[in-house]
Amino acid sequence: MFGQSRVAPEEHAREAEVFARRMERREKFLAFVAARDLALVVRPVDPYTGHVHEPCIVPVGGPLVMQYDDGEGGIRTSSPIWSAGLFSDTTKMKAPSFSLPAGLPSAGGTCPASKLDGEPDKVFICHDCYATKGGYQWPRNVALSLIRRDWTISAVRDSSFAPGMIASIETILERPHDPRWDSRYFRVHDSGDFMGSAAYVRAWNTVAAHFVKRIIFWAPTRDWVFFPDQAQTARKYGNVRPNPDLAAAMRERPANFVIRPSALQVGDAPPVVHGLDGGTSVDTPSIHAAFTTCGPAAKGHQCSCPAYERSVNCQSAGCRTCWIFPKRQVGYKQH
Ligand code: SF4
Repeated sequence: MFGQSRVAPEEHAREAEVFARRMERREKFLAFVAARDLALVVRPVDPYTGHVHEPCIVPVGGPLVMQYDDGEGGIRTSSPIWSAGLFSDTTKMKAPSFSLPAGLPSAGGTCPASKLDGEPDKVFICHDCYATKGGYQWPRNVALSLIRRDWTISAVRDSSFAPGMIASIETILERPHDPRWDSRYFRVHDSGDFMGSAAYVRAWNTVAAHFVKRIIFWAPTRDWVFFPDQAQTARKYGNVRPNPDLAAAMRERPANFVIRPSALQVGDAPPVVHGLDGGTSVDTPSIHAAFTTCGPAAKGHQCSCPAYERSVNCQSAGCRTCWIFPKRQVGYKQH
């Protein structure tokens, strides 16, 4: 069943070209954010109302203002950006999440596996990634995600990421009845990846270990291609340099941190990677329909995600498979 979704090589090449153009457009915003010192504020207080807001990252020394060409020969100036929220609430998950920019590291992305290319007659999933299109490409949203990325890199470097994230997640637990989400579940990287960084993975390991028995964390990753024991498989996607420390960091995570290896091409079977949890795939509609639907009644080792109708989310579908059935492989529908 898997491996049947071939496309014309021209389609593969066109996807790669469009992806490269999207990344190029984003590069021009890098300099605006890179020049700034950034600080996490766990309980920001509104100076006028005294209201305590949610954790955010602020550009130290004043708001960020960007100038960029509008693609029609003109120059635009953005409205001032005073802060970037640390968390997002994805409507599909009904769980708080932390997101980083997707795509090429050279364009401010956090997905080194997106540099690869894959087989010429398959759709390479990173080239068609939802998190590099639409609203994710709007200048303001690009800036907010780059602020989160740049803060993350510097906070991992000076070891303040884990304590800052722990203190920030505690503020979520202080509001257990927040209608936006179920705070027993946390999604790491609704967009983005682990940057191929063992230090960053270990920072999340520390965060998850702090919340054992209170929160289950779930992250998808394509960084499994850098595991030394996956080198042979990874080679069909391009030139990959193995990173044993990254593999060790993921394998030493606590039990409440689910890391699922994601497939790189549409229609490929979920990757099986020693030391990681059940893999995920992006399936054509016919493959998707062939598996049982995820949820408490699902049987077998693989199931298909039910949350594709506009009004359906993990909570309304009664499904928390991605968090609570770590060994089960999960298929998402190509869209
Ligand atoms: S499989 Fe279940 S838990 Fe995972 S995303 Fe879909 S609905 Fe949510």
